[in-house]
Amino acid sequence: MSQQKKSPDPFSTFNETIETKVFIIGAGPVGLFAVFMCGMAGLRCCVVDSLPHIGGQCQALYPEKSIYDIPCFPDILAKDVVSRLSEQIKPFSPRFCLEQQVQSATQQEDGRWHVRTSTGQNFLTNSIIVCAGSGSFVPKRPPLHEIETFEGKSVFYSIKNKKDLSGQNVVIAGGGDSAVDWALLLQPIAKSLHIVHRRDRFTAQEHSVQQLKQHIDQGHITFHPFCQLQDLHGQNGLLEHVGIVHKEQGYRTIKSDILLPFFGLQSDLGPLGQWGLNIANQRICIDPTTGTTNKPGIYAAGDIATYPHKLKLIMTGFAEVAQIAHHLKNYLFPDRFFAFKHSTSSGITKDLI
Ligand code: FAD
Repeated sequence: MSQQKKSPDPFSTFNETIETKVFIIGAGPVGLFAVFMCGMAGLRCCVVDSLPHIGGQCQALYPEKSIYDIPCFPDILAKDVVSRLSEQIKPFSPRFCLEQQVQSATQQEDGRWHVRTSTGQNFLTNSIIVCAGSGSFVPKRPPLHEIETFEGKSVFYSIKNKKDLSGQNVVIAGGGDSAVDWALLLQPIAKSLHIVHRRDRFTAQEHSVQQLKQHIDQGHITFHPFCQLQDLHGQNGLLEHVGIVHKEQGYRTIKSDILLPFFGLQSDLGPLGQWGLNIANQRICIDPTTGTTNKPGIYAAGDIATYPHKLKLIMTGFAEVAQIAHHLKNYLFPDRFFAFKHSTSSGITKDLI
């Protein structure tokens, strides 16, 4: 009986070592276009991102905003840039491994790189294209004594399931979109809800702010303006009170089981900073004509890559990965000659290495 060969799920993770010719760090717009340009060069890619979705900043930070400087699109939403890129790379069937941060890369004797991610997944690759934007996004932590002992038990920077907070005394810190949106979502199910903010106004969508003000006026939510978090009280990671300070009225505590600090995200070059790459101002230095770094087989493009007069634009990153794909093919196959061809002549190749 003949068995039909199942094609691998492009979004799954695997336990065995994954071997690839090209390993791309970051599934932002530049990483996705790198898949396309490498595909046009006949190279199949594996893409890893720490986020649970593709699209990088466009999807995570401003999906509903219009972008006006993508060539050929006078006005396109950021999320639509991502879906069009996703469509464009389909013929090249990249393998995506999401929700894992790339941590280490060690060069082996045969010149290949052994890459390991935060989930313990191993990869063996002939080349790496770092399209890591500003690095991994991590939440900004309030500078509170021993906050790490409460994190994951009663202090959370994101919420997976709002039902987990049902019947709890919740304190939200911050005044931006996340603070306001989560206050509105949790108010009906929380036992008590307090918002601590260093200002007396919110910087969020106007209609959400209006809704929030109504809840504050009706006493469903207690608002503490001009206040900052001061300390945490509790045992074994379980919070009992949050201490706050008002700039004139001084210190007080709020009964609290859960603290949600929403002070935004900060980017962190993270483990990539320890790879021995030439770094300037948290960016990887490249030769813009080839995208090469100081490490053989490691390239960088997009916001993470720097050189004099670099513009951090999506279209700049697109051009950089075009240069890289061309150079990379010659790096991977030094004994062969590859003539440059327009896509109108080459078409879309399905024969990938
Ligand atoms: P990113 O989009 O940042 O993607 C990088 C990805 O790499 C992320 O998903 C991150 O999770 C992942 N990553 C990082 N480190 C690791 C690691 N160690 N392991 C695994 N994954 C990792 N640009 C324009 O051209 N026009 C505009 O109008 C425009 N407007 C903007 C508006 C806003 C509000 C913002 C914030 C940016 C705007 N930009 C605009 C900039 C544009 O979004 C960036 O230039 C672009 O996203 C860079 O793409 P990238 O793929 O290099 O990086």
